[in-house]
Amino acid sequence: MNGGRKDLVQGIAEERIRILFKLAEEFSSKNAERSRQYIELALRIASRNKAKMPKELKAKYCKKCKSFLSEKNSSLEKKGELAVLKCKECGFERKMGL
Ligand SMILES: [Zn+2]
Repeated sequence: MNGGRKDLVQGIAEERIRILFKLAEEFSSKNAERSRQYIELALRIASRNKAKMPKELKAKYCKKCKSFLSEKNSSLEKKGELAVLKCKECGFERKMGL
């Protein structure tokens, strides 16, 4: 019975990450600073627990300024095999595979 505990820890970490992203989304229009803090915390939890960032959340934040990204403050442009996600808060562009 190997790996059971690790899976459990990662599962809990992922759950917390999702909750933090939800909070970040909630606060993104009301309190940008607080919203960013939730994202930072989620990223810290992910790296500390070696948990994978849930796929659907990878495009939900800016790697540079840690803003929560919605349709309002980001744009997604498809360029061939890649998509370019641009943060309108700081102008940072991130290339992502589709
Ligand atoms: Zn940004």
